[in-house]
Amino acid sequence: MRVLPASAMPYAIPPAAIPALPIHGSDALFPIHRIYCIGRNYAEHAKEMGAPVVSRAQPVFFLKPADAIVPGGGEVPYPCATQELHHEVEMVVALAHGGRDIDASHALDCVFGYGVGLDLTRRDLQAAAKAKGLPWDAAKGFDASAPVSALRAASEIGHPARASLSLRVNGELRQDTDIADMILPVADIIAELSKLFELKAGDLVFTGTPAGVGPLQRGDRFHAQLQGIAVLEGRIT
Ligand code: MN
Repeated sequence: MRVLPASAMPYAIPPAAIPALPIHGSDALFPIHRIYCIGRNYAEHAKEMGAPVVSRAQPVFFLKPADAIVPGGGEVPYPCATQELHHEVEMVVALAHGGRDIDASHALDCVFGYGVGLDLTRRDLQAAAKAKGLPWDAAKGFDASAPVSALRAASEIGHPARASLSLRVNGELRQDTDIADMILPVADIIAELSKLFELKAGDLVFTGTPAGVGPLQRGDRFHAQLQGIAVLEGRIT
């Protein structure tokens, strides 16, 4: 049997490109491994969804495929198979290091940087899945469901404990909070995720949305902002 080094291993078909995000002040890109998301991490949003807030003991996690990313926003296609596309503005955390069973006291050492993103959701499919106790993949993990801004390196800005997080649609303020209102702060989210998954360099974490989620229509312009850190702008096409 011929043994080839990994670098020379032939693929039967061309491998997919590595999804990546731009980084402020750098020509290098941030290569994305996985996209993790936490649910119900702001009390007022849990209330508007008629759900209990996230349990500290058993947080609600789900994933999006890495290639659901829309780097830097811009034109975002309205997805098929829904009549109710919803916006969820969220702070996004990018990991430079991973591991298993990471202690919350060291978790921020894993963080590469921060950005702002939209956890786009087919709310009608999610409601149907919830009603039947079925998985959320089709509601959350569809193509182009994760527009995310350029990242700002923690080496530049540190680890923000408070910052205004907001979303405007066609100039109208739809969502507005401070990340200090998260129920599980970033360090705790990383610690909890690492009990379930081996985290890796390149992982992104959506940290939950505040109240004010609502519909997006074709033609809508969105402007998401994590104050002093990141801006994400674009249009639903
Ligand atoms: Mn969300």
